[in-house]
Amino acid sequence: MAETVLVGGSIVDMSGVARGKYVPAARLDAFHKVGMGASPSWSVFCVDGSIAFTPELGVVGDNRIRIDPANLHTVEDGVGWAPGDLHLQDGGRSPMCGRGVLTRVVEDARSAGLTARVGAELECTLLSADGGHASTGPWAPYGVRTSLERSALLVDLTVAAERAGLGLEQLHTEYGHDQLEVSLSPTDPVSAADDVVLARIVLGRVAARHGLAVSFSPLPFAGEAGNGAHLHLSLADADGRPVLDGGTGPHGLTPAGEAAIAGILDALPGLLGVYAGSALSLRRLVPGNWAGAAVCWGLENREAAVRLVGGGPASAHGANIELKVVDPSANPYLAVAALLGSAVAGVRAGLSPADEVAVHPGESGRELPQLPASQSEAIDALEASAVARDVLGAPVVAGVAAVRRREVEVFGSQPLADTAEALRLAWSC
Ligand code: GLU
Ligand code: MG
Repeated sequence: MAETVLVGGSIVDMSGVARGKYVPAARLDAFHKVGMGASPSWSVFCVDGSIAFTPELGVVGDNRIRIDPANLHTVEDGVGWAPGDLHLQDGGRSPMCGRGVLTRVVEDARSAGLTARVGAELECTLLSADGGHASTGPWAPYGVRTSLERSALLVDLTVAAERAGLGLEQLHTEYGHDQLEVSLSPTDPVSAADDVVLARIVLGRVAARHGLAVSFSPLPFAGEAGNGAHLHLSLADADGRPVLDGGTGPHGLTPAGEAAIAGILDALPGLLGVYAGSALSLRRLVPGNWAGAAVCWGLENREAAVRLVGGGPASAHGANIELKVVDPSANPYLAVAALLGSAVAGVRAGLSPADEVAVHPGESGRELPQLPASQSEAIDALEASAVARDVLGAPVVAGVAAVRRREVEVFGSQPLADTAEALRLAWSC
């Protein structure tokens, strides 16, 4: 393996964009112990490069990005990368550190007797180097041909992922034109969110070697398929027994499993601004897109916000919950924290979910709870959500609201096609 010459470390801001610093390898120890400087306003940088300053997050002060050398991954010849934590100058964690928020939520889950594993799916769209469509020929969703036409890239991606220590479950061409999906292996929640950033880096570098770019926008082209960032969550009790399987409830759910689903669904409208909060997100989140636009759950129901994936011989990792509403504009640490935190809140409160929806939700004849209908409504709902405040902390809620409100101002009255073009590479690494 080539020697590491350059070391990068990054954090993810409130608008879901990863931002980083790089040092010569000889400075790795300083990156670890002292950290590299970043203005507090980094947390509220916006997708268009503007800054949504808040009274607390301005031009004065300094934060430190610190990395753990044990987490270094080779992402290119000579280049190592590690996920960063955001610290204050006095050494404590910044309340805006998404990785820190998630670490706290994982500990809180443990104190409620629950251990979580998370696996992320990454949908993305291959682009030409100048950001247009990568190909023009006919497309076959999930086609054998469309994957094989990209086999050189997929082989390179498999090799690069292995070199980076990134666990891949599956990779294939998706429904949308030039769309790829890469599913990552389940792991502990913090590592799962780290892996989302690592996978975006690896995918971006491999695509560049093939003369392509890659979009992680929820809607790269107006009127075409959207990219999801579905999260899979499994939970075990203090004795290591799965709570989503082996019980006496529907499909083997235990009472804690049912309560977790209820907690996730109850909090969903208030957390939408975290899961799918960008100026483009709601254009993806419509019925028929398999994006989970209906606030309900159902066994293997791909139109339900929460798809219960059953256990048994057809499931490599056991029963799990797939939250489909999440898109790649979300900060992965905050999205996983929201998912796990709302599940734990449901368990603590002993909630029961409404009955499952076993058909297309539009044909169920049921009045389901509504998601916010606009980006502004999603921001308002986030600010009003007690679960969001408890799980993410008030500073993070205020930061997310600030950057998304800026998006409403900048993109709210602009034609969708222009916004899609402006943001096509916003979340790429
Ligand atoms: N592309 C869809 C989305 O935006 C998901 C399709 C699938 O179920 O894989 O969520
Ligand atoms: Mg998919």
